[in-house]
Parts: sequence; C-alpha cells; structure tokens
Amino acid sequence: MTSDDLMSRITRLEAQLAQPTPAPMGGQVSIPLDPIRHHVYTGDGGPCTTELFGQQCAEPADRHERPHPA
Ligand SMILES: [Zn+2]
Repeated sequence: MTSDDLMSRITRLEAQLAQPTPAPMGGQVSIPLDPIRHHVYTGDGGPCTTELFGQQCAEPADRHERPHPA
C-alpha cells in the first residue's frame, strides 16, 4: 500500500466522519441506563466529587465500587 493509497483512505474516512448523525429510525427508542460508575468514591462523605465526562458523579458513597484491598 502506497502513501497515496493511505491518504486516499484517510480522506474518505474523514469525509464519512464529517457526516451528520443520522436521524433516528422509525420505532427506535432510547432505553434508560444507570450512569457508568466504575470508579471508587471520592469525597468527604457527601456526594461523590469524581468528574465523569464533564459532570460530577454526585452519587452517595454506597453506590460505588469498594476500593481494592492492597
Ligand atoms: Zn462517583
């Protein structure tokens, strides 16, 4: 594969990635899921202070994984 081939493939991929997100299909529904909480509680006993994807987790300590014993 030449560098021209690679550039061509990358250019096509970039064009695909630049496409807008397709509209939902008929009958498509979202399902509620618990937030991802695979982290150990951080905080002082109040709401968790861990930042997840730009938002504070804010769940109580007992909704978290326990720290692994050393
Ligand atoms: Zn948390």
